[in-house]
Amino acid sequence: MTKKYSGAEAWCPCVPGELQRVAARTRGRRRREFLRQAGSVAAGVAVLGVGGYLATRLGTTPPGHPYGGIACADVVRLMPRYRAKELNAEIAERIQIHLARCPECGKMDRKSGTRKTQQSV
Ligand SMILES: [Zn+2]
Repeated sequence: MTKKYSGAEAWCPCVPGELQRVAARTRGRRRREFLRQAGSVAAGVAVLGVGGYLATRLGTTPPGHPYGGIACADVVRLMPRYRAKELNAEIAERIQIHLARCPECGKMDRKSGTRKTQQSV
């Protein structure tokens, strides 16, 4: 028994309720510390999340929305071949996803789509 706190044996003659009170206080403090740590971690994650969200929004607006892993410019460029079904399935799927999610390209798709399908099919 080489414990650091030498006052431990002084607890023994205490009134029965004292030990429980101390234990409860220690438990409560541990829980508060845990909550504080968990809270700060959650806050950090939230800050990172919001920051990342803003960064992606601000960062990707000028070159286009890379929905489906493909940029608007590429979608526009590949659209004729997509319509003609000349693209491989992977690219075609990406464009499909992009068109479904990107409001601008989706608009363009619907506008030029009706004309294009009449021509090419
Ligand atoms: Zn787009």
